[in-house]
Amino acid sequence: MDSAVCSRLQPGRLIKIQRSNGLIHSAIIKTVNVERLSVSVEWSEGESTKGKEIEIEDVVTINPEILEEIPSASDVKENLPLQENVTIPKQKRRTTLSKIPAPREVLRSRSTRMSVITESQGSLQDNEMEVDPSTSTQTRNHSTVPAGRARTTRPHCATESSLTNVHEVIEEHPSIRSSSSANPVRRKSNIVKEMEKMKSKREEKRAQISEIRTKRAQEFDSSCPNWEFARMIKEFRATLDCQPISMNDPIEERRICVCVRKRPLNKQELHKKECDVITVPSKCVLLVHEPKLKVDLTKYLETQAFRFDFSFDETASNEVVYRFTARPLVQTIFEGGKATCFAYGQTGSGKTHTMGGDFSGKTQNVSKGIYAFASRDVFLLQSQPRYRNQDLEVYVTFFEIYNGKVFDLLNKKAKLRVLEDGKQQVQVVGLQERQVSCADDVIRMIEMGSACRTSGQTFANSSSSRSHACFQIILRRRGKLHGKFSLVDLAGNERGADTSSADRQTRMEGAEINKSLLALKVE
Ligand code: ADP
Repeated sequence: MDSAVCSRLQPGRLIKIQRSNGLIHSAIIKTVNVERLSVSVEWSEGESTKGKEIEIEDVVTINPEILEEIPSASDVKENLPLQENVTIPKQKRRTTLSKIPAPREVLRSRSTRMSVITESQGSLQDNEMEVDPSTSTQTRNHSTVPAGRARTTRPHCATESSLTNVHEVIEEHPSIRSSSSANPVRRKSNIVKEMEKMKSKREEKRAQISEIRTKRAQEFDSSCPNWEFARMIKEFRATLDCQPISMNDPIEERRICVCVRKRPLNKQELHKKECDVITVPSKCVLLVHEPKLKVDLTKYLETQAFRFDFSFDETASNEVVYRFTARPLVQTIFEGGKATCFAYGQTGSGKTHTMGGDFSGKTQNVSKGIYAFASRDVFLLQSQPRYRNQDLEVYVTFFEIYNGKVFDLLNKKAKLRVLEDGKQQVQVVGLQERQVSCADDVIRMIEMGSACRTSGQTFANSSSSRSHACFQIILRRRGKLHGKFSLVDLAGNERGADTSSADRQTRMEGAEINKSLLALKVE
């Protein structure tokens, strides 16, 4: 029977196939695999050609007409030499019967052929006691008859009485029922089975993935909304050999030095379990890890590298930052030059912390800021033999530019005017210079000035500092300017997007901040 079916399923034949989604359409047989009782088929979908392997059993289910084409056993026998009549069908038929289901209607309508097949059913023989004695006898006889007597089966097969008996057996015997697949519902179940197999495979895979995810989540705080990115960043960092800047690193002399400092996540960010997306792998490089989503929603990181003269990670202290940024400039003013150090960044990025000193609660530790470090070094240098006898006096000023106006922070916030003199030099008219004789004096001045600094409650950030603060250390010799060091804590440079829906006053503040920035550059 297999060979008979196979002979009908030749490559090139057009058959109907059923897809896993239930769709039935035509496909061309490409190859027939007799051993696996399957055929491979191909069909076109759009511009592409697709293919799959289908069991012959399923092919026959969808294309029952194939069975119609198979010549009856009697035909086969008639066409074959006598010897082959006996040897061909027995074993093969059995296989076919168990593999290729035939619709019950077909079975009935082609009863003669089917009865022959049933005769060779092994299970039938085993259960022949349940079968009508006449049929069972025939069955036994068929399996044992010598070659020369094989023909005697034909008349029995063709008779209506043997047919009836065989069908009864098929219906009553469960093993036959299952193996013959005479029921279309049963045949359908093969496709269903296949789909169930695929489904269970899919579920297995999903379970595996979710297990891996759970394991990974356990390593991380999975309540963190971005824990997957946090894991990616952690894994990325593990591949780096980070060498942060150290106090022993050399400092080259530069006219302009641009540095970057990373601050640690603050309390609010930690509370929201935000992701730390900055890595400082070395003294000159800063990496920004940008969480991204592919079109299929797979998460990935895009890491961009930025190069600076120096980069400081979150563990760097104000002392380290000072050493590589402002400190080299102190020498400049003793040599009669002007130097400026700007702290630039968004509100909350750590400018005031760096310049004015770290806060513990609301009190600022001004002795740990760059203003104080610079002042300390000025007095250190002043006392050195090189400068001791140069009659240099040290003065400080501290003023604020807020909303286009200048206020003296060392004179009860007196409003000042900025004018240009005859030499096109910008002058802050009326700004009080306070003479200082030691670092402690300076610290007191900084504390006084910081206390009256304007810190507006703005839309962009309620604790933002919306003013520029300028602290200057001035060296004079007998009243004459020798050198000037300006340390500027700029207002937050929020992008337009951050203040886009801000009220008019906030927008005006933003514009003024940028305008006064230009003024400062001139100075
Ligand atoms: P900005 O002046 O840029 O608006 P701040 O200097 O006020 O920002 O810093 C905002 C907050 O972050 C402050 O609470 C500050 O103490 C903290 N902070 C900033 N930089 C650091 C740092 N390097 N280490 C620890 N805390 C920092």
